[in-house]
Amino acid sequence: MATPMTPAQIKAQLKKFGVSFKEYKDWSTHNRNHKGSWGPVHGLMVHHTGSDSKDQRQLLYAGTAALPGPLCQFGLSQDGTIHLVGWGRANHAGAGDDDVLHAVKNELKLPVDNESNTDGNRHFYGVEIWYSGSHEMTDAQYATLRKLAAAICDFHNWNEKSVIGHGEWGSPGKWDPGYKPGKMMDMDEVRADIKATIAKTEPETPSKPTSPSKPKPAPKPVTPAFPGAYYFRPGARNSYVTTLGKQLVKKGYGKFYKQGPGPHWTAVDRAAVRAFQKAQGWTGSNADGYPGPETWKRLFS
Ligand SMILES: [Zn+2]
Repeated sequence: MATPMTPAQIKAQLKKFGVSFKEYKDWSTHNRNHKGSWGPVHGLMVHHTGSDSKDQRQLLYAGTAALPGPLCQFGLSQDGTIHLVGWGRANHAGAGDDDVLHAVKNELKLPVDNESNTDGNRHFYGVEIWYSGSHEMTDAQYATLRKLAAAICDFHNWNEKSVIGHGEWGSPGKWDPGYKPGKMMDMDEVRADIKATIAKTEPETPSKPTSPSKPKPAPKPVTPAFPGAYYFRPGARNSYVTTLGKQLVKKGYGKFYKQGPGPHWTAVDRAAVRAFQKAQGWTGSNADGYPGPETWKRLFS
């Protein structure tokens, strides 16, 4: 059971699938619902108008004395634009084969159509493509047909088997959409293309939006006060040496420490400090490997 889209919903779908469209007159309330119901809808029916005229909006909107409009919901002009000419029941499908309808509804392989016992206007969206059918439609029309079909299938969770040509429906003498006189396009190929379009335009699963986390205030670096040169001399053993060594490791001077760092002040500590001092651009006595207040400050900042 599929309830037809509302005018707002179809417009949103067309936008979602990048279909350019124009709205003709009071299309959104123009229909033949007073003659019969529209829906549940089961598919999209594809037609050619049989004319190469460049502006077929009024004919599709108003129809003729014998066949009052709207004649479809979607007109498709040569430049690939969809023209919305009606919304609701429209005179496009006529009577067709209930076995075909059953197959469309259940997205099965279509049987050969051989009877006209079922109202199609109630159950199909219809697109009228502006060309004679005796030659191919334009590339722009074909591209838009694929997107239109994908947009409709996407909304209703249908697959490409919900799209049929009028020539598959069971209305006598119909062969649309055609590609040469009296010849209907290979609709299985059309459906395969539509399937590819549906697959390509399947919106990617949006990644779960994560609320932008407030950046945590950086913890204030606790710079221990420089304890004094006294603690860093040959033979010294104290926790400051360990603290210094751990900080050097943290800053990337771990390679000096095959063991430790530990509480004993050793040549390894001195070499690491010297490397750090040299990295500051210091030379001479400023890079002697014994930490002073400036070395300490920089090391812990
Ligand atoms: Zn037709």
